[in-house]
Amino acid sequence: MVSSRQRYNRLVRALGQAGYRLTPQREAVLHVLAETPEHPSVARIHELARRRCRSTSRATVYNTVRVLKQLGALEELQYGGMAHRYVVQSLTPHAHLVCVRCQRIEDFASAELSGELEAAGARSGYRVLAYHVAFYGECPACQQAAAGPGAQPPGGEVIPEREYAREPPRGVPRPGHERSGSMGGTTDG
Ligand SMILES: [Zn+2]
Ligand SMILES: [Zn+2]
Repeated sequence: MVSSRQRYNRLVRALGQAGYRLTPQREAVLHVLAETPEHPSVARIHELARRRCRSTSRATVYNTVRVLKQLGALEELQYGGMAHRYVVQSLTPHAHLVCVRCQRIEDFASAELSGELEAAGARSGYRVLAYHVAFYGECPACQQAAAGPGAQPPGGEVIPEREYAREPPRGVPRPGHERSGSMGGTTDG
């Protein structure tokens, strides 16, 4: 299990090796990436980073994320029509639970799936490094909101309104719309 401190240090090293100075704004972005269990979009990273460092611009978030992605320190996820999400790269395989209503993404660790990873390697002769599995559905908060009349839609704290207003969820996205990084669905967060 990798700690958020270790993730943070790894990101700092990656930026440093690429020749980037660690400004307070970049530092705020790295803290958010290392510490949040959400799989945040650029907009969400920006929102969280500004709580640490008010002057963090959207451009700084965008560029920092882009550089870290190029360096292989961040993984980019995309599910359905949702905004791209970013998580610190790790080698711990896990699946994702994706809420088609509020677009929350949570990790789902599964010994069975890890077993399948090994089985796939054993049967195919591939050196299998990762799997990319997502379960789509409605998170507990969304189910509760749907059940209660006049209930507030959940996730306001998690996903900025404008991001899911852009493309309303329409059931289960086609698998073809998924795009994984080199190590699909892997982070400790
Ligand atoms: Zn939800
Ligand atoms: Zn994850």
